[in-house]
Amino acid sequence: MSVTSDGRSGQKRLLIVGGGIAGLTLGCAFQQAGVPFDLIERVPEPAGGAGIMLGWNAVQLLATLGLERPLLELGQRFEQVRILDPLGRTLQTVSLPEVHSEAYGLGLFRPELHHVLAEGLPVQWGVGLQTVQVEPGSVRVRLSSGEERVYAAVIGADGLHSRVREQVFDADGPVYTGYTCWRFVAESPLALAPTEWWGAGRRIGLVATGQNRLYGYATLNAPAGQHRHAAGSAALLRRLFADFALPLALPESDAELIHHDLYELPRHHWVSGPVALIGDAAHAMPPNLGQGAALGIEDAVVLARAVQRYGVGAQAFGVYAQLRRNRAAALARTSRHLGRVGQWEHPLLVTLRNAALVATPQRALAAQMREQLLGAGVPRTAPLGDAAITEG
Ligand SMILES: Cc1cc2nc3c(=O)[nH]c(=O)nc-3n(C[C@H](O)[C@H](O)[C@H](O)COP(=O)(O)OP(=O)(O)OC[C@H]3O[C@@H](n4cnc5c(N)ncnc54)[C@H](O)[C@@H]3O)c2cc1C
Repeated sequence: MSVTSDGRSGQKRLLIVGGGIAGLTLGCAFQQAGVPFDLIERVPEPAGGAGIMLGWNAVQLLATLGLERPLLELGQRFEQVRILDPLGRTLQTVSLPEVHSEAYGLGLFRPELHHVLAEGLPVQWGVGLQTVQVEPGSVRVRLSSGEERVYAAVIGADGLHSRVREQVFDADGPVYTGYTCWRFVAESPLALAPTEWWGAGRRIGLVATGQNRLYGYATLNAPAGQHRHAAGSAALLRRLFADFALPLALPESDAELIHHDLYELPRHHWVSGPVALIGDAAHAMPPNLGQGAALGIEDAVVLARAVQRYGVGAQAFGVYAQLRRNRAAALARTSRHLGRVGQWEHPLLVTLRNAALVATPQRALAAQMREQLLGAGVPRTAPLGDAAITEG
């Protein structure tokens, strides 16, 4: 079996495994760059889910792929991020225009984001990767249908429990963060910018996602697996946050909640020969910065630029890994730290934490956010084709 190549251009063909936010964005970017690819996704249709916030870094890159307008039509634009105490007193506010005059973020209903990304892409839904094997000059994959294919390179965009990572990389599995999370979407006309209420060992966040919807998420310190079974979760959440000054009533029924224990990767993995990882497959981190998907979007754009510039091969993948490594490591560290502090339980630590949050000057917060959204390693926003491979 010879390496699958594109019939018209004769260019080498790649396989993207996984049609989540990272894989679909890579599909859009490859399409824009004229790179031939296949994209397989094991579930039969675009993913469901609750909501998501996209930072300015992600919004700008999606704009270069022509997606800003549909996302703005569907989602809710925001220009502020706030942390409050359970009584609703402000601990911190960051105003995005202070970070950059044009900066804003977007709250979105996740299924709509997935639909916008998937539109017009040749995704093979319901096709899972079973095995991946590197051979001299190619990569052989076996699919859930039993079919075997050979590609010039494979990109694992298959998430936290990536099979590509497990089979090709010498990787440790994900580790539990120590806190668990419920998500929900409620009908509400409140155009709320991202707001989190920080308590002791628990936090709850709300953000408008457009079209009269509020996306909510709540975290709680708990042993792994303790809340895996849904029965009683809605009642538990209402109890846990009963004394929080929230602008809406929490869900009544367990069926309205999506629950996950939160995991992260202890080590990040990028490239091994003709196999590269992007998104959570490479660097899953706790969701405390709201930057996980944004980093996957950044990965996708940088990888597509590298392949466009250098062709499919070691040079492109090497440049990609080099440009992404430090950025992802820095955000993962910050997110882990923020999660630890945000989940503190001891009353004294909580009091000290809240006092420190109040005392932190706006300037310092804006500077931190500027680094996150515009700093070292953030891809520049030139459209594919015009982009030099120097980032940040
Ligand atoms: C509670 C929570 C809140 C979050 N909030 C935000 C936020 O507000 N903003 C933000 O930027 N990030 C956020 N994140 C992080 C973000 O959700 C992830 O970083 C992002 O969804 C990862 O996208 P991905 O495409 O890399 O992986 P995934 O979304 O996991 O997609 C992987 C895809 O691969 C498919 N797949 C898996 N195995 C195979 C296989 N063998 N064959 C074929 N297909 C396969 C899966 O079905 C899936 O569709 C949050 C995360 C959590 C847990």
